[in-house]
Amino acid sequence: VFDMLVVGGGPAASAAAIYAARKGIRTGVLAERFGGQLLDTVGIENFISVKETEGPKLAANLEAHVQSYDVDIMSGHRAADLRVSDDGTIEIDVEGGATLLSRSVMLATGARWREMNVPGEQEYRGRGVAYCPHCDGPLFKGKSVAVIGGGNSGIEAAIDLAGIVKHVTVLEFDSRLRADEVLQRKARSMGNIEIIVNAQTTEVLGNGEKVTGLSYSDRVSGDSRHVELAGIFVQIGLVPNTDFLKGKIDLSGRGEIIVDERGATSLPGVFAAGDATTSPYKQIVIAMGAGATAALGAFDYLIRSSVE
Ligand code: FAD
Repeated sequence: VFDMLVVGGGPAASAAAIYAARKGIRTGVLAERFGGQLLDTVGIENFISVKETEGPKLAANLEAHVQSYDVDIMSGHRAADLRVSDDGTIEIDVEGGATLLSRSVMLATGARWREMNVPGEQEYRGRGVAYCPHCDGPLFKGKSVAVIGGGNSGIEAAIDLAGIVKHVTVLEFDSRLRADEVLQRKARSMGNIEIIVNAQTTEVLGNGEKVTGLSYSDRVSGDSRHVELAGIFVQIGLVPNTDFLKGKIDLSGRGEIIVDERGATSLPGVFAAGDATTSPYKQIVIAMGAGATAALGAFDYLIRSSVE
């Protein structure tokens, strides 16, 4: 039985595991993919005290830091269910069979890119449909691509891609872009970015091997239009990885784990931190701070609940 079982392996989970281990309690980490979103990130320039680094490098540093403590890391495994037994022990079912027991649990399962849910998207995922401009942008060097979504991430992606690819078409569902004005100005100043608003993407088109274009509906005229291109970068937001928690703990309308200022969830002994929670800004330093806070919150819970 662990004292604290951390579910997740990103910045929030790493911070929580280190804070827990430093309290001398039995700590485990169950992570599907250690490093989390950092593995999909190239340049990081806002990790305070480190002027510039890269995601995979920061992920490796995090793992090494966690491993320097007495922490049982179980990588490559996914939590599939959470239960509380009669004596208050929390049970985490691991996909594939095992069940792990812990006196407290830290949920730090992060988030993933939101999908368009249109025909062709799944079929051409990785064959033209992409979610990470930093990872896949160079694959489309000299070609035409689309960015779906005109929020900050979409416009940042368009500006980023415009430096690599031949042409970028931004498709925004709404009648106006939601990105910060400074980003919009930058995008409009670049010669190879075209912005189309009121555009609802309806289908990813391909030749059986790779993406060749997309169809969208003009939401004002109702006309269906086609754009020929080689890549589609979907930038319409992040979804928290909390499906397995539905009906188990309180989630917000967007599926985020509702936490208080100490990281406590609606279930006693279950804490949460990072992008999977209602914490408003999704950033590395914020996830780490939340992981530390929630680990201390969980430690507080443990010392109050143990009368051994
Ligand atoms: P994540 O990093 O998402 O980690 C979640 C972890 O949980 C992963 O290890 C995952 O495998 C695991 N997991 C999920 N479900 C399960 C399950 N059921 N069982 C077990 N494990 C599970 N932030 C910045 O501050 N600066 C930047 O420059 C920056 N750039 C970014 C660029 C990109 C392309 C992306 C995608 C994100 C960027 N971010 C940046 C955001 C930052 O990466 C996130 O805010 C941060 O990683 C969140 O940390 P987290 O620990 O909450 O979640």
